Amino acid sequence: MKTIAVDFDDTICKTAEHILDLVGLFFNETYDMSQLNEYDISECLNIPKEIELDAVDLAVSNEDLPLEKGADEVIRWLSQFYNIHIVTSRKPEYLEYVEDIIYNNNLAQYITDIHSSDTKAELVSYMNAVALIEDNPKYILKYMNDIDILIFDKPWNKHIRNTYNKFRVKNWNEIKDFFMIKLGSKN
Ligand SMILES: [Mg+2]
Repeated sequence: MKTIAVDFDDTICKTAEHILDLVGLFFNETYDMSQLNEYDISECLNIPKEIELDAVDLAVSNEDLPLEKGADEVIRWLSQFYNIHIVTSRKPEYLEYVEDIIYNNNLAQYITDIHSSDTKAELVSYMNAVALIEDNPKYILKYMNDIDILIFDKPWNKHIRNTYNKFRVKNWNEIKDFFMIKLGSKN
């Protein structure tokens, strides 16, 4: 089976929404995802970096982060045709929470492996993945050629345009549609 690499935060899990809730609690404010039009939360919300880092730390230590709608169902479906590898840039000490979330959502048997790396580009090419599903512009822009990049639609990646190998997907149903066409065309 071929391999698909899937990012975790803000692709499988709604991490940024949880971070916004935490920062909102701290400042007694309501923040909206549309405010995050850059990858830098403290800059977008005009809050101190330390508060962002504390909120991120709490969010990535939370084993109850909610999944993006349909992520579990589509991962189960995809695993019939592909090896699914989670490729996260989380630090290794936060990987146990990724494992917990995968386990709590009954996905462990559908995920081949979980990797942590801040050099995702190298890891994904080493894995020989045929596709990467990712929201972070930094990683999306690193891939210029041979694999399909599914840009998981978020306010901070709106500026990235579709190309011959980059495709914006709004949700997990659109990811399923993409691979249904791939499988149908036996590519
Ligand atoms: Mg991400």
